[in-house]
Amino acid sequence: MHLVIIGGGITGLSAAWEAQQRDIPYTLLEASDRWGGKVISSELRMNGARFLVDGGPDTIVTRKPEAWDLSNELGILNQVEDPGSETRGIYVLDAGSPQPIPLSPFRFVSSTLMTTRGKLRMLAEPFQPAREDEGDESLGDFVRRRLGGEALDKVIGPVLGGIYNTDPNIQSIMVSSPVMREMEREAGSLVLAALKRGLRRKKSSNGMKKPRFITYKQGIQGIVEALVSQLTGDLRLNSPVRYILQEGGKYKVYTADGEIHHADALVFATLANATADLLTNIANEAGKLLENIRHNHIGTVSLVYRESDLPRLEINGLMIPRREQRAIDAVTFTSKKMPQRFSSGYAVLRVFVGGGRPEVVEYDEEKLIDVIQLELLELLGITALPLTYKVFRWQNGFPQAEVGHLQLIDEVEKHLPSNIALAGSSYRGIAVPDCIRQGREAIQKILTTKDAKRTTVGQAAQQEAYP
Ligand SMILES: Cc1cc2nc3c(=O)[nH]c(=O)nc-3n(C[C@H](O)[C@H](O)[C@H](O)COP(=O)(O)OP(=O)(O)OC[C@H]3O[C@@H](n4cnc5c(N)ncnc54)[C@H](O)[C@@H]3O)c2cc1C
Repeated sequence: MHLVIIGGGITGLSAAWEAQQRDIPYTLLEASDRWGGKVISSELRMNGARFLVDGGPDTIVTRKPEAWDLSNELGILNQVEDPGSETRGIYVLDAGSPQPIPLSPFRFVSSTLMTTRGKLRMLAEPFQPAREDEGDESLGDFVRRRLGGEALDKVIGPVLGGIYNTDPNIQSIMVSSPVMREMEREAGSLVLAALKRGLRRKKSSNGMKKPRFITYKQGIQGIVEALVSQLTGDLRLNSPVRYILQEGGKYKVYTADGEIHHADALVFATLANATADLLTNIANEAGKLLENIRHNHIGTVSLVYRESDLPRLEINGLMIPRREQRAIDAVTFTSKKMPQRFSSGYAVLRVFVGGGRPEVVEYDEEKLIDVIQLELLELLGITALPLTYKVFRWQNGFPQAEVGHLQLIDEVEKHLPSNIALAGSSYRGIAVPDCIRQGREAIQKILTTKDAKRTTVGQAAQQEAYP
């Protein structure tokens, strides 16, 4: 069997890795001139100083074990770094001014971010009736139900809406935070489940202490570099797939350079908006259904300042709800989070754009930096201009999993032949570990259906021979 995997982001690379572990010959086709897709790091240099920045993800949660386990398989756990807890010093913009998210009991009581009534409603969480079914609902409905409307508006909505670059009132909880529904089912309450889980924090199988989040010494791209250096199959960059034809249950994959790749099975590790087009000739119904998945713009800009030029701020991260109508969605002080990546005496900020005002992602660089600069001045009092910066952007590149998303994907998959699998951020989870899991599962799925077919064919032959 020869497999063609389309898309060389972390999903496609993980699929290739799994195929290799199972001795399946494969070709991996990537449209661009580099591997990793959104998993990208870049080194900026200036007057002998060095700044290592990430464009897309910058940390990976280990509660979902796939990235940690893959790093173990690749032998790169010695390159893993602990970026610390994501929750320290996080602020939310409220009526134009940054307010700390109150995480300690003392800060919670004294915080002015929420009214007393809102706080009491949050504290009543363990007494709310628990939902036990597996049906979907929006992230917003879930938070309102468990913690109250104010918690959603003031704290949880801005944080989760920022992470998923979406409106929590349409985002599916079963895709974005199924763990919250698991916790509700497990203990009847988020608070009680968190306490229980805290008590049984475990060590990883090899005895190494597993941080809550990980990154890599060479930037997040470390995992991509390790994968590419250990993949031995047919890997092709600059090979955008243009169209695919079917011939007797097999496929002919045409790339822009005029090459034709023959495949017995296909893994699409591309976003649903790209996959929908490519399915036209081979699974049109499934392709049409995929068109229902929206993809938003997203971009990040890393800006380097002289540390002495910035005001002294306690803020490590600022989340900006859409109701604030700002051009930027969030700011992270990367140099506080990962100081080892930057020459001393400099500060590095990472700004997110595209959620609240999608058109900002399309601005030319000069206009984009001007707009960001103005926001940073108004919100954080930063008057200095950046010494250098790096822009990353993905237009229509951030999938939106709306309520009912998983049912839609089930439906799509019903319309696919058994030798085609879909994997990646548009389907069953967007975080890097979700993508690794889906890439690997795609291979397992193809093998399972192939083995099932072989058994059925074998059984039929046996029945003919021994009626
Ligand atoms: C700004 C940002 C911050 C994020 N932060 C985090 C984080 O902190 N932690 C976390 O876990 N996740 C985070 N994520 C999510 C995570 O990074 C992505 O969901 C994940 O990297 C997507 O991987 P993928 O391989 O599925 O898709 P992609 O990375 O989009 O890769 C798809 C690949 O397919 C290629 N392709 C497209 N069309 C074709 C074609 N016709 N032929 C061949 N190739 C094609 C593309 O060039 C691309 O390389 C973040 C994402 C963004 C954008």
